[in-house]
Amino acid sequence: MKNKEINIAIDGYSSCGKSSIAKDISRKFNMIYVDSGAMYRAVTLFCLQNSIIEKSKVHKTKLLNSLNNIDIKYNYNKSLNISEIFLNGKNVENEIRNKKVSNYVSKVSQIAEVRNKLIKIQQDICSKKNVVMDGRDIATKVMPDAELKFFITASIETRAKRRFDELNKSDEMVTIAEVLNNLNDRDNDDINRKINPLIKSEDAIVIDNTSLNFAQQNKLIFNYIHEARN
Ligand code: C5P
Repeated sequence: MKNKEINIAIDGYSSCGKSSIAKDISRKFNMIYVDSGAMYRAVTLFCLQNSIIEKSKVHKTKLLNSLNNIDIKYNYNKSLNISEIFLNGKNVENEIRNKKVSNYVSKVSQIAEVRNKLIKIQQDICSKKNVVMDGRDIATKVMPDAELKFFITASIETRAKRRFDELNKSDEMVTIAEVLNNLNDRDNDDINRKINPLIKSEDAIVIDNTSLNFAQQNKLIFNYIHEARN
């Protein structure tokens, strides 16, 4: 019997492993993975490159005037077997992860017009089904009809340590205190923003992975997916 085509929404705090989970799901179940945070990061990168963020301030009017000049696409990279994000035709998959972008992204993502534009792109992609998407408002706003919804959480210390280790593998110099501050700031911005804040959808399954390794976590999550697809 053929498996049902389903959509999976994954929400949760910054750096709790949402994208690793989503990538593992996409490989195991042959689903399309969409990193919605990458889209907000790409808009933020555009702002930094075009003097829309200056002196620590996001110029909202300037950004709104430029929104139509921001083209965001996902292209599938066959050799790496992943989708990569393109900003106005340029692959920005690495650039969007830098510290400057991380520092401003939760400010840019508070702007309603930015959210509306990106949610429309996200909903177009998931209308075709077989999508696993991670973010903050996926279950509550982007795909409230998703067959499966997960809310991922972990202690702030665990998340900071994981992010610190990840950044230290790249050339970026950061301290654990900086990482912790950035996570705290982004959590606060994401939880408290007026439009589409980060909240657990009532029907989401909560996974606290503070003391789970990847194998344990995947086993748990894959079981839910097997059930939902049968
Ligand atoms: O997932 P990631 O940490 O890369 O997301 C970066 C930022 O983008 C988040 O801190 C949040 O402010 C914003 N975001 C959002 N809604 C989403 C995904 C990300 O507001 N669906």
